Formats: sequence, structure tokens, C-alpha cells
Amino acid sequence: MSLLYDSHCHLDAVEFDPDREQVLARARAAGVTRQLLPAVDRESWSKIRALCAADPGLRPAYGLHPMFLDRHQPGDLDALADWLGRERPAAVGECGLDFFVEGLDPDAQRNYFQRQLGLAREFDLPVVLHARRAVDEVIASLRRVGGLRGVVHSWSGSEEQARQLFGLGFHLGIGGPVTFERAQRLRRTVATMPIEWLLLETDAPDQPDAAHRGERNEPGRLPNVLAVVAQLRGQAPEDVAAATRANAERLFG
Ligand code: ZN
Repeated sequence: MSLLYDSHCHLDAVEFDPDREQVLARARAAGVTRQLLPAVDRESWSKIRALCAADPGLRPAYGLHPMFLDRHQPGDLDALADWLGRERPAAVGECGLDFFVEGLDPDAQRNYFQRQLGLAREFDLPVVLHARRAVDEVIASLRRVGGLRGVVHSWSGSEEQARQLFGLGFHLGIGGPVTFERAQRLRRTVATMPIEWLLLETDAPDQPDAAHRGERNEPGRLPNVLAVVAQLRGQAPEDVAAATRANAERLFG
């Protein structure tokens, strides 16, 4: 069994309230001994802090997610700055831009995103990014701020965009979508990209693999993603597991 790092798991989500201990036990039994827990709104920060304090395999990231724009207030950015300074988490995030979901004001999203990139730079922390229909603008923002590092989670861009991100010090988070045979562009990128920029993720409770469509996803399913990534790359699963775990540990400290 390979030891795995789930670089993106919303273990704090209410979907896990009834059986979080069992979910964690199944993850450990599947070899998923480390998880990064990205926040979505201010409300979630203390829950994530409590979960991480109780389990040394869990690491926190704190931020304001663009899909939950209607929950954020400008004061949350000052609160985030205080919180980052006090808590010294593994990363800033989840933050970014989402131009797919309707009704999310683009300029309001940009304001929260830019401020969070500034905080990542100020506190010298990696950043966990959400970029949907917004990869080019996210890349332009990273270039403008400069000196950043991190991961674009649930990667769905082109190979050219991927190359630009590697040049900027950014990893690609690869999860359930790669297990779908129709995801040909994604599969080509995963097959050929340099392993040092690859991170595995579940994004649980979202984005289940092809064998579990429509179900609640959980971190213990990460070996299903590993198996497909290893097969696409023609590498042994234990080699991909070791490399991606080392990548996550290097990035998140
Ligand atoms: Zn997420």
C-alpha cells in the first residue's frame, strides 16, 4: 500500500458531520495519511483549525472561495490577515476566480482574489487556487503579483496554460475528473507533464471518480485517482504516490 497525500479535501463539509471519524479511518486504511483542508469562508476557519489540531495528518489552509462570494464581507479580508499571522497555516486558500457559475460578480471576485494573493506573498505562504473558465486571468494575476507558489486545483486547462503555470511555480491538482475516459485533454496533460508539478486530490465530498458517480466522494478513494494517473504515465503506482506526496510536503511544509 502506498502512502498518499490528499492535497485538496473539504473534510470540514457538513456532508461529513454524521461520520467524519469513519471517513478518516477509511482514508488511513487506504494509505491516505495526509490531507490539506482548504477553507471556503470565514465561518469554516475555526472548524478546520479544530480538525487539524486533533489530527497531525491534517493541515489547514485559510481563505475565501469565489463560489461563496455572497457569504463574504470586506472585513473578512482583514480577519484573514489576522488569522494567517496568528495561525501560520500550510497555505492561503481556497481562493480564485469562477466565471462558470452564474451570478458571481466578476469584479467582486477579483477584489477578494487579488487581496488574498497579496496576503500569500506577505506571509510567504503557498496559495490553493480555484480557476474555472478563468485560467488565463488567474495566470495574468500570478504574473502581476510575482513571487508566488502553489497549486491550481481540479486542473482543467490546456497544456500551454499548464506550462505557463509550471514556469510560475504552480502545481496542478489532479482528481476524480481524470478517471473519466472522455477527459482526453486532461489525460494527455497528466500522461506527459513533469511529475514534480503533479499533486493528487479528491476534492471530497465533490468530484467522485468514474466508479462512484453521483456519490459523496471521500479521501479514502484517492487510490482510484492514483491508479489512473500511474497507468496514464506508465509508472508504478508506488512511484507516483511517493513523488506526489513529496511534492505536497515540499509545497505545504
Ligand atoms: Zn475545493
